[in-house]
Amino acid sequence: MHRASRSRQTAGSIVACLLCVTALAVTGPGRGAVDGGSATAGPAITGLSIAGLSTARLQDTRPGGLSVDGGFVGGGALGAGVVSELRVAGRGGVPEVGAGSVVLNVTVTNPTVASFVTVWPSGMARPGTASLTFVRGRTVSNLVVVDLGAGGMVSLFNLAGSVDVVVDVVGWFAAGGSYHGVSPARLEDTRDGSAVVGEDELPTYPSGACDTLTEGLQGLALQPGEVPDAFVQIGTSVKGRPIWAEYWGPAQPTSIVLVIGQVHGNECAPARMVRAVRQNPPTRYGIWLIPTLNPDAYASYSRFNANYVDLNEDGLAASQPETRALMSFTELVHPVLSVHVHSPNGLIAWFGTSGFVQGNPDKSNAPLSSAVARFVHDRSDLGIEGAGVRFAPSRWFLWQGQRLVDPGTETLLLELHAVAAQEVLIARPRPPTHTVDQVDQECLVVLAGLAALIP
Ligand SMILES: [Zn+2]
Repeated sequence: MHRASRSRQTAGSIVACLLCVTALAVTGPGRGAVDGGSATAGPAITGLSIAGLSTARLQDTRPGGLSVDGGFVGGGALGAGVVSELRVAGRGGVPEVGAGSVVLNVTVTNPTVASFVTVWPSGMARPGTASLTFVRGRTVSNLVVVDLGAGGMVSLFNLAGSVDVVVDVVGWFAAGGSYHGVSPARLEDTRDGSAVVGEDELPTYPSGACDTLTEGLQGLALQPGEVPDAFVQIGTSVKGRPIWAEYWGPAQPTSIVLVIGQVHGNECAPARMVRAVRQNPPTRYGIWLIPTLNPDAYASYSRFNANYVDLNEDGLAASQPETRALMSFTELVHPVLSVHVHSPNGLIAWFGTSGFVQGNPDKSNAPLSSAVARFVHDRSDLGIEGAGVRFAPSRWFLWQGQRLVDPGTETLLLELHAVAAQEVLIARPRPPTHTVDQVDQECLVVLAGLAALIP
């Protein structure tokens, strides 16, 4: 499926129009961003606060790369987690003073793994979203509209593996002009069809008993037509299975929510929340969805990972690769809220930035998570309480560990009702089993709560 066909860009009409304009500017030989020089003269734009330029190369990390002024060439591929700064003001026709934002054609080539690159104004916090997402070996380019940051610079970040980056500037907006971008805008590019993600390249998930335990379950697999707006492998399980994160939401999200779809492999209801997110992606804020943090356990219908560790109690030790993947990704995307999805206890619980005070969300400093929990509790049969903490260092919950790596984040613990009598056979008292439809309704109420309350 072509990504453009399900594009849900929320950037304003000015950006949509800009796409037309810059498409003119970069059509033709100059579009060969990877293979050749700069060439095509851009039209002079009037009526908009944008100045079209001849496409000018600002950066090429490959050996022997060229740029308009010889700067920022041959620096070598961008490694995992690396941030590089690129000077834009005063180069390639962009004025030294007076440019507020620029239109860049960013091309990645020679990526060693699936990853994403983010471009944002230097000196500002890195947004948790992708400007370009790509898979191993592909060459992909996107137009990116980005404000110039400190020193007339923009920052570039690569999540995983290594990748060469080529940046051309194709236009700029005057400071105070009619367009005010504050975070990267993704615009589709069909230069050579490379932006098309083949179905064989989409994230894959193990099948397991949860796929078929009750009629109507679909497990974790992406269904036909479901294509995330971005995706990335964030780690590898003990048995070598990939751990994926899928991005669902607008190109310019107001904030990020991280949904951990499944931690315990013998819990089937959480797959319904995974499905609910994919079917009802947010349009204002964005969701990074980890369908399963524990793919080995999903495949074997076990609570534990392949080393027989309960990941949910590995929050401080982070002794397992699955736990470390979550902590690194939390640090990366800075969610305002993480939603940990479990079953079968039928409750929704809050966890704030002052830990947990029994029964008291205010003293727990959990304004966001407790508000969403109350919203959901009022509209469903889910109980409400605090998500709790473990004091023994060897048994910290995952959300306690997340707060260490990202102190501002809050957590919502969503314990859905079970969808099958065989689900999560544990010795404590459990509420009656619910139908798939009833659990789906619980998931939709949670999404409604997020839509209402996430900033
Ligand atoms: Zn659980």
